[in-house]
Amino acid sequence: VRIYVPRDAAALALGAEKVAKAIAQEIAARGFDAEIVRNGSRGMFWLEPLVEIEVAGKRIGYGPVKSKDVADLFDAGMIDGGEHRLCLGEVEDLPFLKEQTRLTFARCGVTDPLSLGDYEAHGGLAGLRRAVSMTSAEIVKEVTDSGLRGRGGAGFPTGIKWKTVLDAAGERKYIVCNADEGDSGTFADRMIMEGDPFVLIEGMAISGLATGATKGFVYTRSEYPHAIAVMTEAVGLARQAGILGPSVLGSGRAFDIEVRTGAGAYVCGEETALLNSLEGKRGVVRAKPPLPAHKGLFNCPTVINNVISLASVPVIMEKGAAFYRDFGMGRSRGTIPLQIAGNVRYGGLFETAFGLSLGDIVDRIGGGTATGRPVKAVQVGGPLGAYFPRALFDTPFDYESFAARDGLIGHAGIVVFDDTADMLKQARFAMEFCAVESCGKCTPCRIGSTRGVETADKIARGIEPEKNRVLLADLCNTMKFGSLCALGGFTPYPVMSAMTHFPEDFSPAPLVEAAE
Ligand code: SF4
Repeated sequence: VRIYVPRDAAALALGAEKVAKAIAQEIAARGFDAEIVRNGSRGMFWLEPLVEIEVAGKRIGYGPVKSKDVADLFDAGMIDGGEHRLCLGEVEDLPFLKEQTRLTFARCGVTDPLSLGDYEAHGGLAGLRRAVSMTSAEIVKEVTDSGLRGRGGAGFPTGIKWKTVLDAAGERKYIVCNADEGDSGTFADRMIMEGDPFVLIEGMAISGLATGATKGFVYTRSEYPHAIAVMTEAVGLARQAGILGPSVLGSGRAFDIEVRTGAGAYVCGEETALLNSLEGKRGVVRAKPPLPAHKGLFNCPTVINNVISLASVPVIMEKGAAFYRDFGMGRSRGTIPLQIAGNVRYGGLFETAFGLSLGDIVDRIGGGTATGRPVKAVQVGGPLGAYFPRALFDTPFDYESFAARDGLIGHAGIVVFDDTADMLKQARFAMEFCAVESCGKCTPCRIGSTRGVETADKIARGIEPEKNRVLLADLCNTMKFGSLCALGGFTPYPVMSAMTHFPEDFSPAPLVEAAE
């Protein structure tokens, strides 16, 4: 019997380690012939720790399980999938999972993340095997034809980026995986690294074959210790198995990976600051041009892709560009792992084709707020994303639709707020975040964000509110068009959207001291 207990950071935070220990004790005490598999999470965080038992080829779930429930679960016959108040039935039949289209996350929560046997048994390596039989140009064409765009936030076509590196002259080329997942409310990169690291390794190896790069780096942050541990172990296993090394799957083409840990600065998620950090320098944004695809890491042609972009490549190579392209809408093709967080009933990861409406995601899939109060706003795309009010809930989830409404989908983080949220405070927070995380290279971001905090404070205190609202909008305009990178350039999105959609929060009653 296989008993699955997640080793994912979210499950661990909710007590999965204690649950695994309690299960091991019960197995020993009762003399059962059972194996505990530490899988990744399925992404249904309200059910974690989610324990699954494999019975007759089906996975029966129990959750959320606490260590004190374990003996009771064994008494109820959990080992045979027995009934219990925590029994959820067949996990694949849970509506939250059943409605998803899991392409990138197909194995996440299903397999043992560090078992190559499990990985291959569930379709792993099929994409890389096909890639080694193709020329670099053929692989690039396949990825281009799939319509895959950067899942880190910018949405740049992955195939075009790869072609630029393939065509660039350089003795050495690099693949850099941006795993510096710093957006509030996002966890897709972490989940893949902890739950299915081989899919990222496979995607990076394909990227190496496609561009002629022989070395890859996974750049992640120190706040992700579990992801670092799993990734590092998986890279070692892949090397032993000949998936990485001097001859990828016996192809005679070399590719290897190193996992690097940054200290955790938001700006190091910006690709050129990330390159500086990887080179051992301070994480400061570089001016473009040159593009990293021409002169990136150590001045060599470099592909920089987000974890999810790279992890989506194996399924594209396995099933073909047309298969992947068939999902989605408009210029947003394939699937996107939505990360539903904040004040929401069913928080977690939901992979689906582009095109669901924001309202559908928040109200139906997320189940509304955890507090039961009305949804007031939803911030989409991390701390630099716009706040969407209920009036814009008909917006389809795709790159262009959000841009048309002065928003962005970013890394697909969705943070829900109920009607107690004060949007002026949220706008102030955006400016404060920018001031704290700014690399300091350019004036609109470095100075503008601090002036933005002060201006928001004046509005809150009722000091010349009309004049200060105009000033805040003017500051946003300067930051949007005068900043060198997205940190300063996108901070105006949450601020302006809060002002536009929730003007009542920007007209607080004057305080006594202000009136004086
Ligand atoms: Fe640095 Fe901010 Fe300028 Fe970006 S916008 S380069 S983070 S100062």
